[in-house]
Amino acid sequence: MKIAFIGLGNMGLPMAKNLAEAGHEVTGFDTASVDAPFPTARSATDAVNGAEMVITMLPNGNILRSVATEIIPAMADGAVFLDCSTVDVESARAVAEQANAAGLGALDAPVSGGIGGAQGGTLTFMVGGDQAAFEKAKPLFDTMGKKAVHCGQSGNGQAAKICNNMILGATMIVTCEAFALADKLGLDRQAMFDVVSTSSGYSWSMNAYCPAPGIGPQSPADNDYTPGFAAELMLKDLSLAMAAAENADADTPIGRAARDLYRAFVEDEGGTGRDFSAMLPRFAARGHT
Ligand code: NAD
Repeated sequence: MKIAFIGLGNMGLPMAKNLAEAGHEVTGFDTASVDAPFPTARSATDAVNGAEMVITMLPNGNILRSVATEIIPAMADGAVFLDCSTVDVESARAVAEQANAAGLGALDAPVSGGIGGAQGGTLTFMVGGDQAAFEKAKPLFDTMGKKAVHCGQSGNGQAAKICNNMILGATMIVTCEAFALADKLGLDRQAMFDVVSTSSGYSWSMNAYCPAPGIGPQSPADNDYTPGFAAELMLKDLSLAMAAAENADADTPIGRAARDLYRAFVEDEGGTGRDFSAMLPRFAARGHT
């Protein structure tokens, strides 16, 4: 398939490489200079010329909107605009509307799995948009990832992503604060893990990504909290969740508390560049200083 790939950063470059390696004809574009093993174009509009599928992997909704406005008029008849960035639901729906109005297919397909998943071709895609566009993109999802869930109308991929990550952020925080409480109560961390991971407090944060070093499966805690999933990316996703909740008039008090804690951690407490599970040393330090 002839594919344009716009946004060749930490995620986009390895995703595009996997498509090129699978035999697709990929043309890339990024505003920064990128050393790519496939041809790159001088502009986004040049990149999309004649492409059947245009994939974007960009930092945020404002950039996505401006790129969409630039490239949609240049896209080939019947092509699909496939955005894999994590952006706000409103931007995803606005861009899909713009593409549909121009007679193009549109999908929002944010990913989970991080840079490792992008490199290894093991991402999970959460996809919003119409069935015909989903079917067309399905072989590409299978190359870049291991799973693609069609979640319904445009914007629903972003909705699924932020709801999942709101649960993840909140459970990570409560797991970390529970470990710090257990420390103060004299409960051994291994005993805490052995109980909780097999009791009703279990979660992915505890069982698969334990924030306590040396306990449970290998996780960023065992590597001095080198990300993994950086705290600032969790803050981005929680901020998107709170913006969506406000727009939809949904009551999300625990999500908001998680957003506020990650904001303080990232902006004031040295959390930038640390894994999001580094909330544990942050809670554990309290009271000892
Ligand atoms: P990144 O900053 O490494 O890459 C973004 C790229 O977009 C950069 O190379 C930048 O130069 C380029 N860019 C910016 N404006 C542009 C424009 N107008 N035209 C063309 N290119 C432009 O970010 P990333 O880590 O690759 O993340 C990309 C998206 O994926 C984000 O929405 C992020 O939230 C999401 N995501 C990231 C991860 C992760 O672990 N990094 C995991 C899941 C989802």
